[in-house]
Amino acid sequence: MQRKTAVRLDKVGRIFGAAAAVKDISLEITGGEILSLVGPSGCGKSTLLRIIAGVETADTGQVFLDERMVDGGEFIEPERRRVGFVFQDYALFPHLSVRDNILFGLKGRPRREAVATVSDVMERIGIRHLASRFPHTLSGGEQQRVALARALAPTPSVVLLDEPFSNLDQGLRERVRAATLSVLRSAGATVIMVTHDPAEALSSGDRVVLMRAGEIVQAGTPREVYSHPANAYAADFFCAFNKIPGAYRDGSFETAIGRFVLPSIAQREGSRMLYVRPQAIRISKDLGEHTAYIEERIFLGASEKVVLKVEGLEDRLTTVVTEPLPADARRVTISIVPELLLTF
Ligand code: ATP
Repeated sequence: MQRKTAVRLDKVGRIFGAAAAVKDISLEITGGEILSLVGPSGCGKSTLLRIIAGVETADTGQVFLDERMVDGGEFIEPERRRVGFVFQDYALFPHLSVRDNILFGLKGRPRREAVATVSDVMERIGIRHLASRFPHTLSGGEQQRVALARALAPTPSVVLLDEPFSNLDQGLRERVRAATLSVLRSAGATVIMVTHDPAEALSSGDRVVLMRAGEIVQAGTPREVYSHPANAYAADFFCAFNKIPGAYRDGSFETAIGRFVLPSIAQREGSRMLYVRPQAIRISKDLGEHTAYIEERIFLGASEKVVLKVEGLEDRLTTVVTEPLPADARRVTISIVPELLLTF
């Protein structure tokens, strides 16, 4: 079945004072798709989300929701856009109980129907037992679920999440994220989630849109943007690459520690830097091609980060190992897996 376009942005721009927060952004989001909008602080993610919600207006371009123009000629008020918004700080009403917070978004509906909808959404999100509690008595994770319930209750066609997990600490964050995405998927919601966390963007979205300074740098599936970054900025955003200077000569990339033959898809004429993923560096006692000395080891639990001084290279290389190295390992050899290399 062909899915419909739920959100369409056509050359959307927004300027604050002299600076453009969002420049000429065009993007289509299919119904039921979960899209991660990611980029560093200040790149315009929240502004774009707020334009879609209608709490901010576009200066240029047009916004369509379910093929209806909502900004850029015609302006439809936020409350008439069928958009659910979960803010970073959840923005729950402190003087209302959980039930009344969720009911708030259903004003205008017959009371009996609204109460039944609230019960149903609380059940689905697993917060029925919190119905009479007030926001200040809830944990961060519970507040997040109430905010999600409030956004979902009016059955919005699009759910916008602005850094929705950033107030939660690590372990809880992953659990709440998985639970939230599963609720959103089973509701068939179209979701745009803003985050500045690369791992969160890669693990949550069907598609990832990377922004920089108000513009889209790359859009693609998580695997595409990670494995085939469009440029050095995209590469650096999603992976802490090691970099070795060099240049292409006769089809291979020449560096101080030898020549590397890259897969043809990864070859870029004019590149001056070999990009080596930490996991592309394999350590062995004496089977590798290059001699290296372990300078630092950082234990991370399931893995260990190892900093190496490689003979012939000035800069240190960092790798990650999951098999424990001997405690006294000092001089080792390394190999570099060519299939994982990039150049820029
Ligand atoms: P963060 O991750 O830090 O929230 P962001 O990517 O969401 O950042 P935006 O909040 O969209 O970025 O801001 C983009 C740019 O627009 C920033 O330079 C910001 O200072 C500016 N900006 C946003 N809102 C306003 C406003 N109301 N008035 C003036 N400048 C604004």
